[in-house]
Amino acid sequence: MSRRPVWHQGRYRFAHAVASPNFGPRPAATGIDLLVIHAISLPPGIYGGDYVQDFFTNRLDHHAHPYFETLRDVKVSAHFYVRRGGELMQFVSCDDRAWHAGASIYAGRSNCNDFSIGIELEGLDGDTFSREQYECLIALVPMLAQQYPLKHICGHEHIAPDRKKDPGEGFSWPVLQAALGWSDEFFSVK
Ligand SMILES: [Zn+2]
Repeated sequence: MSRRPVWHQGRYRFAHAVASPNFGPRPAATGIDLLVIHAISLPPGIYGGDYVQDFFTNRLDHHAHPYFETLRDVKVSAHFYVRRGGELMQFVSCDDRAWHAGASIYAGRSNCNDFSIGIELEGLDGDTFSREQYECLIALVPMLAQQYPLKHICGHEHIAPDRKKDPGEGFSWPVLQAALGWSDEFFSVK
């Protein structure tokens, strides 16, 4: 008898795996202690297409929409992407360093990509998020916390406040916190 593990080499079995080339190794002896929540949609505010997956895998058709011209030569990724219907996709092993945070700082530590896991929600800052997306997060985050020594959870807007607004006011941190049952220290942004 054998059972496939739920986690294997930083990959979650119940996420739909799509490989992104946009990652690298984490610095040696880096504790992965920060979870960063994002929002993205392409074009912004339009949901349901495959452009985000294309963007994270460097396959975006830059002629498909005028906005996409601004993304030419931009190479980014996230570990996870949660679609409006709750579908979970994984682009990068959590053991590796995904390119989601950019120039960023958390509690005096810069380059948050080094020590964080990034979860993108299909959405837009200013919009709300679906019940299915919260349910997905509420299932995923405790699983991540079993694998990695997570100590903090915040939004992209908190670690790059001059550049980023995601996930924005439409994301309910109290809903997430209450469902997880995690104490305030995990959610403090300093
Ligand atoms: Zn972001």
